Amino acid sequence: MPKVKVATCWDDGVTTDIRLIALLHKYNAKATFNLNPGSAPQFTDSPTWKTAGENGWSRFGFRPGKVGLRDLKAVYGDFCVASHNWRHETVGRCTDQEFIKAAVDARKFLEDTFQKPCPGFAWPCGVVSPETIALLHENGFQYGRTCKYSEDITTCEEPLALNSNCHFLDDNFYEKFQNAKKYGAFYFWGHSYETLNYEPLWQQLEYKLAYLANDPDVEWVDVIDLVSLLHK
Ligand SMILES: [Zn+2]
Repeated sequence: MPKVKVATCWDDGVTTDIRLIALLHKYNAKATFNLNPGSAPQFTDSPTWKTAGENGWSRFGFRPGKVGLRDLKAVYGDFCVASHNWRHETVGRCTDQEFIKAAVDARKFLEDTFQKPCPGFAWPCGVVSPETIALLHENGFQYGRTCKYSEDITTCEEPLALNSNCHFLDDNFYEKFQNAKKYGAFYFWGHSYETLNYEPLWQQLEYKLAYLANDPDVEWVDVIDLVSLLHK
């Protein structure tokens, strides 16, 4: 009998997700991808590195590319997807009305594209407010992942401010997983671009997925499945 439900989610709809998804398939792992379709190009663009004189967002100079709108279903169709706002609108950088419109617009777009309910949410930049939690509730969202961490995620009283156990690059990932077994749930998250397409980091991530997949105590679940475990 599985003793610990394991969930994972990945943000921003980046091209490096394609390599991550191949690993998830290899280990029969479930995952949820938090997408902001208003920021996606029509066609998937390739990861690149910045060259001299270039400005704009990168992770240590790495630009992971975005999965194109035309490829969303082909890339993510075997997994859950959730709203990460239309264009990554963040609490405090827009009005609450703009925020909730962005949350709902992304959800509607994903539900049309994938033809399934998408009641999950991930807070852009992890910024949460009581007012926007109330708006997400009113609009039927069932959970919202923060960027905070809990030793026992099941003690969460507000599913719209759901913490995870750790980030995938956490130095104590294995210890945190083993410790979470006694609570029955382990949830980790990240961005696939944080591998920087650097082979040792991909190998570390693959080792973690293999470690979980080979543990007879593990049952992979979707993030939405965690909601019923939360103590209300
Ligand atoms: Zn994000």
